[in-house]
Order: sequence, then structure tokens, then C-alpha cells
Amino acid sequence: MTRLEKYVCATYICLAVALGGVLGYFKFAVYDISKASAMQKDENENVSEAKENEINVPTGFVPIKAELTAYCNCAICSEQWGSQTAMQTHTRVGVVATPKEISLGSKLFIPDLKKFKEDCLFDVEDRGGAVKIKSDGTYIIDVWLPTHEQVKEFGRKKTIVYLLK
Ligand SMILES: [Zn+2]
Repeated sequence: MTRLEKYVCATYICLAVALGGVLGYFKFAVYDISKASAMQKDENENVSEAKENEINVPTGFVPIKAELTAYCNCAICSEQWGSQTAMQTHTRVGVVATPKEISLGSKLFIPDLKKFKEDCLFDVEDRGGAVKIKSDGTYIIDVWLPTHEQVKEFGRKKTIVYLLK
């Protein structure tokens, strides 16, 4: 090889290495950008999901820490009272019993009970022996359900309810 040939050859090798490096860099950079944008998209999706799950509490309702239990018209749950409420109305889906600190006729918004009542609005029309405010300030609220099976399945739920003031 002549000196010129050696020089050209070396230049080509240098160029090839440099080009390879540049290509490699771009590939990495592009991969990184697409990964970053994919992550960005993920985050956005999570945000919109969270927004969908977000409860729109109607205006005028204030939050109360509560523990929900359930009752029905049966003798175990309602003794001799059956379907008669403390407000002289009849039990139905949407009726709840609360401690006396919440007056009869009040409205509660209970997002956790959406599957029982689509609009989550409940009428305070009943009272009960086990329905009270616990020492930590939690309101025990009894939710009326059609069958004792559902009452048993319901168990106890800690949640936030909203009282219309
Ligand atoms: Zn019952």
C-alpha cells in the first residue's frame, strides 16, 4: 500500500467508526424518546382514570367519617318495627338510620353505596340501638337493604359519607 492508500483506508475506518457511533447514538436517543413518551402517555392515562373514579360530591355536602352497617325488615334486624321507620315512613332502598345528631329528613351522599343506589343519595329516616357516634368520632350508619342475605354480605365498611348542611 502506498502512503495515500493507507491514509484513505485509515480515514474510511475512522468514518465508519464515527458513523457507527452516531447511528448508535441516534438509535438510543430515539428509543429513549419513545420510551419517555410512552411513560408520559401512561401517566396521562392514570390521571384520566383517577379523574373518572373521582367522586363529584354535590355542593353543600360536608364529609363525615362513618362506619356503615346494614339492616333489613326482619325480626333480627328490626325487631317488631318491620318496615316502619322512626320517621313513620316505610323502609326502602335509600333509607338509612343514623345517630340522633343527624336529624331525620336529612340527606346523605354516600359514594361507597353507588351499587345500591345510582345517585348515591340517601334519606335519614330511621334510628337504631347500635347506631351511634363512636368515641373516635366515627358515625355508625345503618343502611337499609331488601334481604337479610344482603345484610350479612354487606358486613361493615369504613368510609366517608357527606351530609347536606
Ligand atoms: Zn335482617
